Amino acid sequence: MSEDTATVTTAAVTEAEAEAGPAAATVTDSGRKPRFRSVLDRMVSYRPSRSAGPARTGPVFQLAANESPYPPPSAVVEAISREALRTNRYPDNGCADLIAEIAARHAVPEDGIAVGCGSVGVAQMLMEAVAEPGGEVLYAWRSFEAYPILTRLSGATAVEVPLRDGFHDLAAMADAITDRTRLIFVCNPNNPTGTVVGEADLRAFLDRVPVDCLVVVDEAYREYVRDAKAPDGLDIAAGRPNVVVLRTFSKAYGLAALRVGFLVGHPVVAESIRKAYLPFSVNGVAQAAAIAALRAESELMERVETTVGERERVRTALTDQGWTVPPSEANFLWLPMGDAAAAFGEHCGRAGVVVRAFAGDGVRVSVGSPPENDAFLSAAARFRR
Ligand SMILES: *Cc1c(COP(=O)(O)O)cnc(C)c1O
Repeated sequence: MSEDTATVTTAAVTEAEAEAGPAAATVTDSGRKPRFRSVLDRMVSYRPSRSAGPARTGPVFQLAANESPYPPPSAVVEAISREALRTNRYPDNGCADLIAEIAARHAVPEDGIAVGCGSVGVAQMLMEAVAEPGGEVLYAWRSFEAYPILTRLSGATAVEVPLRDGFHDLAAMADAITDRTRLIFVCNPNNPTGTVVGEADLRAFLDRVPVDCLVVVDEAYREYVRDAKAPDGLDIAAGRPNVVVLRTFSKAYGLAALRVGFLVGHPVVAESIRKAYLPFSVNGVAQAAAIAALRAESELMERVETTVGERERVRTALTDQGWTVPPSEANFLWLPMGDAAAAFGEHCGRAGVVVRAFAGDGVRVSVGSPPENDAFLSAAARFRR
């Protein structure tokens, strides 16, 4: 097909749509477009939050995505460069070297590990393995925005249990379990509130979950936790075949762009989700970088320590400014400011600091480098409440 023909075809569809009006957008109109699953009608397209507005000049600080503010250590960059020379070859579909490295690092068996294209990719594979129309997926709300998206995509019904004062209400979550519940997310620490579920509470909750229902403890921010009450999910999962832990290389390990996450759990669960693996979806550069990052762990954990220190510094400074900021165990802080959230988000954007505002609820700000945090603090001080 020539480019001309392609252009004409596109234009024709657009014109026909314009003529037919809104009805042309329905999925039942099979004459002009593919039939899409009806779940897509209820989903919004992803809108990037990467703009501080067109009027602004000067530096823009990205504190909206909970990324590490630091570029990878040189050993990781070298591994990435080496692997770049091999990108004409398919990667290892089984991610054997990476799995061996993770198994050694966390002292867990290799057959209980599955890797994926980010931990969100692993969560999607879990959904494909256990969720379907008629089933329910249970999680606290507000929590990680990927949960409702993945749940809707799976066709299952989302059951959202409100947080209590920013904390998981595990008793209410246990009460919400039905015989249709297939999967439960516990985000620990919770994104965006930064709160943790304590070990005793989590164990008591798990005792109430039927063994045929899968529980996912999402520990994307595990490395930033300093509260001794918070459990290591790996210890908890070790004794419970229906509990799996999600970890990621996107945050503390600084590889957000490369998309590597993994699950640790019972071999039966790991195997079932390997069946749902999109072939080659963890690319070779990502595998090499993740291995190198594990080997550069001490350097990376020093940065985590800096971030934890900055977290406390920023929280104290905000409290001194008069803000209410609950303690956080992650690399972000939560400002529960209700109706002022959207205006505060826009104010920060105009000041060159991109934060994540949840309109009507609160604002999440990632802990960045010291200068980035200072820019945020000075923007916060200038906001007129
Ligand atoms: C950032 C984050 C992740 C990480 O997702 P990746 O796909 O591994 O980048 C997972 N869970 C939560 C709760 C997060 O906030």
